Amino acid sequence: MNIILLGPPGAGKGTQARFLVDERGMVQLSTGDMLRAARTSGTEMGNKVAAVMDAGELVTDDIVIGLIREQLETVTSNGFIFDGFPRTLAQADALGDLLSEQGETLDAVIAMEVDDEALVARITARSTCGGCGEVYNDQTKPIPADEKCTNCGASDFKRRADDNEESLKTRLMEYYKKTSPLLGYYYAKGQMHGVNGLGEIESVKADIAAVMDA
Ligand code: AMP
Repeated sequence: MNIILLGPPGAGKGTQARFLVDERGMVQLSTGDMLRAARTSGTEMGNKVAAVMDAGELVTDDIVIGLIREQLETVTSNGFIFDGFPRTLAQADALGDLLSEQGETLDAVIAMEVDDEALVARITARSTCGGCGEVYNDQTKPIPADEKCTNCGASDFKRRADDNEESLKTRLMEYYKKTSPLLGYYYAKGQMHGVNGLGEIESVKADIAAVMDA
């Protein structure tokens, strides 16, 4: 089963994708993670996109479609979770083509609905374990007192360079201008399912499971 987790920055896509990886053996394809990895390893593409990402703007469709194409051509899975991709209508069209080239289908698009105030609060409080990617939040899931990750034990917590209010404003604007039309696009295709992304992590997880098991 292949799904898209759709929603604005901070909606909880990455957190929920990790559950699906751990519990259902699915493969998470996060273009944001791929781009951050390219930056860290200093590839030409990584250097090219760094400033765009820090500003909160979208990188070009060609780059992210290329990243997804490479994964779909080389990785086998009993289910992909597209996390942070597609973000434009051109990317959505390209994903449809790439999946059909691989003989795959898109089974559900799960839109995580949250309000903007909550997003700003969540994102500015967010940090991630450098060892395993576990996500922490100063208010709802603080870093443990012994400063060791509850998942992998590492003591290396990072805040994303683009998790600040200035960049977030741009990221939200990019979402509303370029990504939110995908809600109508997938609704018209009959693939859209909404879940309330503002609930407790476990209840969001249950709502997603209900969509997937229906
Ligand atoms: P994310 O981790 O999904 O929030 O992505 C972080 C940043 O990477 C975004 O603000 C964009 O600059 C870039 N990015 C990630 N995925 C895409 C995409 N599908 N299209 C364009 N830019 C992307």
